[in-house]
Amino acid sequence: MAKIIKADGMNKCIGCYSCMLSCSCINYKHHSLEKSAIKIKTSGGLSGKFTSTVCVACKDERACLESCPSKALEKRSGGGVILNEEVCIGCKKCVSACIVGAISFDEESKKPIICKHCGICTKFCPHACLRMEEVDDDL
Ligand code: SF4
Ligand code: SF4
Repeated sequence: MAKIIKADGMNKCIGCYSCMLSCSCINYKHHSLEKSAIKIKTSGGLSGKFTSTVCVACKDERACLESCPSKALEKRSGGGVILNEEVCIGCKKCVSACIVGAISFDEESKKPIICKHCGICTKFCPHACLRMEEVDDDL
């Protein structure tokens, strides 16, 4: 059965950025917050709360995939997409097409950074703000 990330415990987030660092280090071999496919930021004001931005694993209509002129994005079973870097031409159309603004662009590699729902971030969150949810395979 496929799994997708759910960021539904963000009320417990302390802003340690462990999720972002683990994604960046493990998926992009980069010890920074820059290359993470999940983004955490303060929600503003004095409340001290944090919000997350990450792919919501669209199923019916995957706007990023539909915007791609080179067919570099394939449907991922359970929702979301998988990037084929070999085919990507770095046009950034997927970045502006994503319905939740979850795709960033790596100016070094000239490729988009797109969550593949691997779940690494969920393992490093010390407060269980993130979790994996089982969903039906749809491919
Ligand atoms: S940047 Fe790559 S994946 Fe995104 S729309 Fe352009 S070709 Fe497709
Ligand atoms: S990257 Fe954005 S548009 Fe593409 S599947 Fe995820 S949430 Fe949907």
